[in-house]
Amino acid sequence: MSAAAPPYPLEGVVSWNMNTTCNYRCSYCTQRFLDDRKRWAKDVPAFVTALNALPGDWEVKLSGGEPFVHPRFEEVIDGLIGGGRRVSVVTNLSASDEALARFAEATASRPGLLSASLHLEFVSPDSFFQKLRRFADLHRGKVVATCVATRASLPRLPQLIEEAAALGLTLRAQPEKQDRDVIPYSDEERAALRALGGHNGLGLVEPSFLGSPCWAGARYLIVDDRGEAYRCYPARRRRQERLGNLLDGSLRLLAGANPCGYEYCNCTVPPQRGMVRGGGERSHPGA
Ligand code: SF4
Ligand code: SF4
Repeated sequence: MSAAAPPYPLEGVVSWNMNTTCNYRCSYCTQRFLDDRKRWAKDVPAFVTALNALPGDWEVKLSGGEPFVHPRFEEVIDGLIGGGRRVSVVTNLSASDEALARFAEATASRPGLLSASLHLEFVSPDSFFQKLRRFADLHRGKVVATCVATRASLPRLPQLIEEAAALGLTLRAQPEKQDRDVIPYSDEERAALRALGGHNGLGLVEPSFLGSPCWAGARYLIVDDRGEAYRCYPARRRRQERLGNLLDGSLRLLAGANPCGYEYCNCTVPPQRGMVRGGGERSHPGA
């Protein structure tokens, strides 16, 4: 499954999990077993300074938890935009229209992506899509909606994708994970998921890039609310390929694209931004 190294990504991406706090409690949340769901990055100026000091051009993708409930969310946005960073966010879209409008306005000079997750246990699709439409009309960057394909929601997704499309919105299905592994879907369910585009539109339910050169660690990294940095999500899960800490000066990025050592890639950014190529379907463990 090896592939040639993709070209150097001009814009790197940091996924910053800036808090574990969230105003929802989704039954399928991959963070529901965290010991502490009340953590949030407190030393905002230090984070902003360190993120703005990364070498080269970077996008900062804010996620949580729910980033909009971070008490100093707007200070973070202003600081990063002031430092010339593109700012994106992954949100459950529960923030008020006013807060969303402020985000659109604050990021207008360097707009990023707003990825809104539709949680059917908490909101009606109609009100969610209408709200996202109102935001999209203000935002200069990209907007996408996602929905976790639980066994209950999977049959509803084709209709929901149509409803979103009628408003000019894109809704993508996300395979459900437990302990960060895809749940054991039946063959029929996997086929249905693939027909809906699979994980992030890759056409795969459990993408694998094992052995392929990937820029993660050099032009992509994840950082948590304490500044701990890892190459990507599978690396953090296994507590390997730690890159140091963003706040204490120990961060060391990798040089170049390095082979992927993980059988299952649950990251969104590197495959979507062309930081890794090739890829195939991993067979589900135990299948
Ligand atoms: S909105 Fe996201 S972070 Fe919050 S409980 Fe649901 S899945 Fe978890
Ligand atoms: S798991 Fe994904 S992001 Fe991580 S090194 Fe492999 S391909 Fe890159």
